[in-house]
Amino acid sequence: NPEWAGLPVVVAGLGLSGVSAAKVLHDLGAHVTVVDGGTGPALDAKAAALTAQGVTVRLGDGASLPEGTRLIVTSPGWAPDSPLFAAAEQAGVPVWGDVELAWRLRTPHPATGEPAPWLAVTGTNGKTTTVQMLASILTAAGRRTAAVGNVGVSVLDAVLAEEPYDVLAVELSSYQLHWAPSLRVHSGAVLNLAPDHLDWHGSMEAYAADKGRIYQGNQVACVYNLADPATEALVREADVEEGCRAIGFGLDAPAVSNLGVVDGLLVDRAFVPDRDRAAAEIGAVADIHPPAPHNIANALAAAALARAYGVDAKAVRDGLRAFTPDAHRIAHVAEIDGVTYVDDSKATNTHATAASLAAYRPVVWIAGGLAKGATFDELVAGAADRLRAAVLIGQDRQLIRESLARHAPEVPVFEPAPGKTGAEAMTEIVRVAAAAAQKGDTVLLAPACASMDMFTNYGERGDLFAAAVREL
Ligand code: ADP
Repeated sequence: NPEWAGLPVVVAGLGLSGVSAAKVLHDLGAHVTVVDGGTGPALDAKAAALTAQGVTVRLGDGASLPEGTRLIVTSPGWAPDSPLFAAAEQAGVPVWGDVELAWRLRTPHPATGEPAPWLAVTGTNGKTTTVQMLASILTAAGRRTAAVGNVGVSVLDAVLAEEPYDVLAVELSSYQLHWAPSLRVHSGAVLNLAPDHLDWHGSMEAYAADKGRIYQGNQVACVYNLADPATEALVREADVEEGCRAIGFGLDAPAVSNLGVVDGLLVDRAFVPDRDRAAAEIGAVADIHPPAPHNIANALAAAALARAYGVDAKAVRDGLRAFTPDAHRIAHVAEIDGVTYVDDSKATNTHATAASLAAYRPVVWIAGGLAKGATFDELVAGAADRLRAAVLIGQDRQLIRESLARHAPEVPVFEPAPGKTGAEAMTEIVRVAAAAAQKGDTVLLAPACASMDMFTNYGERGDLFAAAVREL
């Protein structure tokens, strides 16, 4: 590929996305150097595998920019204030994320002569669930598609697939949007906005601005949450293609231009604007799994994007019926001695945890880990009357302990397994939670924090929870 041949590119970060970007760039003919500030046997092994393929790897220095670099492709973990990016700015070197790289590498679909359109989803919570619902709807409509993002197909694999997709349902994180300056999607949705990852973005304003980039240049629809005015504000600020519409979704009866719920039915008054109820019905709340309010909102957002792409009502209904949620998202684990155990390990911020705490009462709440700059007063104050007990874990648990002391002083607090990690820690945590629970209670793992201080990731945290519950 003449554009890429010999181009000196730096890939920042030797994680999953860095390794796959390095391989793609190397295959394109670029001269790739992967840099990572870390050292150690695990990184050495990954570096050796790449070096064998002809990629240069530099460990132990993630700050300085190699001489002659023309482009940086960065991994999500690298904060925007990293010294490497300051050096890049000085030298006039552009920085792309994996999404920008994928966007630039799209090729025309043989049938249409155009690259597959992207229907994109961002938001603090519900992204994965919503793109999976959307992919299920598009599949029901007979389109060749994939749920692209954290779970499922990676964005680079999706655009480079041998058999091209007709349309993509793409999950975009705020990090990815931050580093995707030329992205212009068919239609985009911001599901909700609550504080998360503020340590990375620096402020709520910067985080919201990055999320808002999903609307930039939208062609057909900007989908926003009627219950979250911040998402509508982002639509208003966006510079979109002529004719692009703002479409709201919410749990009430919809006004014209919106999707909503009437008598347990999902109703589309954006694409069926007259009062013909039968024509506007696109599904039923009872078909959504689980039928919790936040998940109905996710389904409406997925439906709005599908409708913007021209999918008919029947495919929306069939696609939502066929959808099953991924693991660790309010997953029922077991009922033992009248106590229900629920794994919502994916609740890694206070907004997600608030949604799952609201679904149960009384709750023995397992919480804590890495707080990522979050505060817990609002969450704890809102849930105080539901809590039987709190079982606090992980590095930042004192923040939650302090919020409990302020807003729920009656709630007993346990702090098992300090300093332990992995299975050993989780066994003790579950035993303490089980002892605190009474018949009819729910033991809920919804930590409102990231997991990496004690576990490999939220998946392992949830798996170990389920295993420990089964041991009871
Ligand atoms: P993401 O990909 O944005 O992290 P997921 O679909 O994986 O979203 O869900 C993340 C967490 O947020 C889960 O704990 C889930 O139960 C919760 N959740 C899902 N949708 C919403 C929503 N619309 N509002 C609040 N919480 C949600």
